[in-house]
Amino acid sequence: MMLTLENLSKHFGGVRAVDDVSLTIREGEIFGLIGPNGSGKSTTVNLITGLYAPTTGRVMLDGYDLTTMAQHERTAMGVARTFQNIRLFGNLTVAENLWVAQNGHEQRRAHFLSRWFRAGGERGADIDELLEFSRLLSKRDVPASALSFGEMRRLEMARALASNPRVLLLDEPAAGASLEDGQLLAERIRAVQGRGVTVLLIEHMMELVMGITDRIAVLNFGGKIAEGTPAEIQRNDDVRSAYLGS
Ligand code: ADP
Ligand code: MG
Repeated sequence: MMLTLENLSKHFGGVRAVDDVSLTIREGEIFGLIGPNGSGKSTTVNLITGLYAPTTGRVMLDGYDLTTMAQHERTAMGVARTFQNIRLFGNLTVAENLWVAQNGHEQRRAHFLSRWFRAGGERGADIDELLEFSRLLSKRDVPASALSFGEMRRLEMARALASNPRVLLLDEPAAGASLEDGQLLAERIRAVQGRGVTVLLIEHMMELVMGITDRIAVLNFGGKIAEGTPAEIQRNDDVRSAYLGS
């Protein structure tokens, strides 16, 4: 698996949110995407998933051009993401949220699907396994709105994994989480990698990024200013000044 961004740009009026970014994420790696606030990280994820169409450039997965594919087609190709602002169905249970994620994301179908699920239409073994993996099995039948913040973040990631992705895009999965939750998250990201899933990790918690990524790209004002191993990035002068200047 190889996810490649080729000269990718996204302009919003005069704002170059993403500006001619090229990079390749290799099969099986945990790739970090960092940069100051507003540097284009979330927009990059939105371009990979198809939430936005790029102004220029291409998104390639294993040589297939995803650039004009709809979001659901990219999901079928194995691309999944979490949102920086958690998106769950608060009135559905934890298990139902995962079941809906496996069977179609659309809001208007979610309630219909969940009623069928509740009626015993499907008792997915996969779902329980995923809940166990996400340390949410004891919360299986609890409404998502009743979860703690850390649990919601775990469910958000489980929701993305429910589509059985080959590449998982995590947009600030530790934001607002405690250090302890951050450590749990690191373990789970490694476990996801252990299942053969390639990970793109956007994260502000530097300890987390430097500790678990194989390689990192740094954005500043939409452009890529550096790429390398965590050690290389930490001693890169352009990266230091981008962070100090922000
Ligand atoms: P990051 O995730 O690195 O904090 P974003 O990708 O969210 O940055 O934003 C990059 C830039 O693009 C910012 O200047 C932001 O205001 C702008 N931007 C992002 N999304 C939109 C949008 N939908 N419309 C207009 N401007 C946007
Ligand atoms: Mg963002």
